[in-house]
Amino acid sequence: MDKDAISNPIPYGRQSISEEDVWEVTNVLQFSWLTQGPKVQEFEKVIASYCGAKYAVVVSSGTAALHLACAVAGLTSGKEAVTSPLSFLATSNAILYCGAKPIFADINPESGNLSPEEVQKKLTVRTRVLLPVHFAGLPCDLLRFRSIARKAKLVIIEDACHALGAEYRGSKVGSCRYSDMSVFSFHPVKHVTTGEGGAITTNNRNFYRKLLLLRNHGMLRSPALSKRLGGWVYQMTALGFNYRITDIQCALGISQMRKLDAFLEKRKEIARKYTDALSEYKDLLILPDTSDADRTHAWHLFALRLKEPFAPKRRLIYDRLHQEGIRVQIHYIPIHLQPFYRRLLGTRPGNFPFAESFYTSELSLPIFPGLTSAMQGRVLSALTRELNLFRGRRRTPFTHETVDIAG
Ligand SMILES: *Cc1c(COP(=O)(O)O)cnc(C)c1O
Repeated sequence: MDKDAISNPIPYGRQSISEEDVWEVTNVLQFSWLTQGPKVQEFEKVIASYCGAKYAVVVSSGTAALHLACAVAGLTSGKEAVTSPLSFLATSNAILYCGAKPIFADINPESGNLSPEEVQKKLTVRTRVLLPVHFAGLPCDLLRFRSIARKAKLVIIEDACHALGAEYRGSKVGSCRYSDMSVFSFHPVKHVTTGEGGAITTNNRNFYRKLLLLRNHGMLRSPALSKRLGGWVYQMTALGFNYRITDIQCALGISQMRKLDAFLEKRKEIARKYTDALSEYKDLLILPDTSDADRTHAWHLFALRLKEPFAPKRRLIYDRLHQEGIRVQIHYIPIHLQPFYRRLLGTRPGNFPFAESFYTSELSLPIFPGLTSAMQGRVLSALTRELNLFRGRRRTPFTHETVDIAG
């Protein structure tokens, strides 16, 4: 194997950290609060203002953000939330943390986003929340979800972990113009990072106050309370958590946000290059860049689908690219097929055919701001070599593969 491949593996996503980022973090370490200090609110202001939302609450992870959003939306035992099976585990786990039941609805196979028609079929009197995911960074059909939510009196929480910087009908995702809350993650593979971290944006003051309360054990302090009962007095009014994020992390986040637009531009350029280089491969489906006046893509993932006869060969392509240090990824194993979910909900292969065939044919190529054109060249030449190997072979009819990861 090529030396370069071993010493420089190319991940599907990774952080870009600059000297300024390092300086901001060390500055906090030397001169400021490490946690519960001013960087937390400063980071919140930056996020809220970037997204065009009234409020932002930053927390220790995207998962914590999802959990708190579900909690303040009123999910409790006996309630249901409709969401996508084509997501990371955290999306539906957050519903379970509240004691509520995740109800999956199938996706639109073109975009990977939750289908409004399928959501409509899953509504019951117990439904309280719609939790769509902007898959890969392409905004989902928020207008349709809003009209469903209005009729059924539901709270919309956007899982926007892939979509920081994307736009929908002229507003940034996270503006909550068409939803109640939006959730972001600052894990290193996401658009900006704090190591671990997350945020919720909202325009709803009531949600905002509850989010702040639950982030910190449900503890309430106020000048009125202090005056009446003593400066040390706090009241616990709800069962909260320690989902705080540190000032060290927020300093990194603030510094990263200054570069977000440049990061997005770089992701767009990489996506354009992949699209141009791969468009002659008729056996590939490139997820549409449906960027237009209505929405722009944030390109968290560059997702391909391998059409027949490649789908059965995906395992081989995956293994061979990984051997060369090209760490393509698969997004996602449908959540309803996880052993835990099958036991809990009785779900099984065949329940969500679009999500399942999406999974069996998907391949995510490396995309992140630090991906150089030499690196992208390596990815493209290895991938096209593999695709060419299968070209011209007799096609095996595409049969719907049964996906079973339960073993
Ligand atoms: C990353 C991600 C999460 C979870 O975020 P963490 O910060 O890792 O907890 C949730 N949903 C989606 C769609 C994600 O991509």
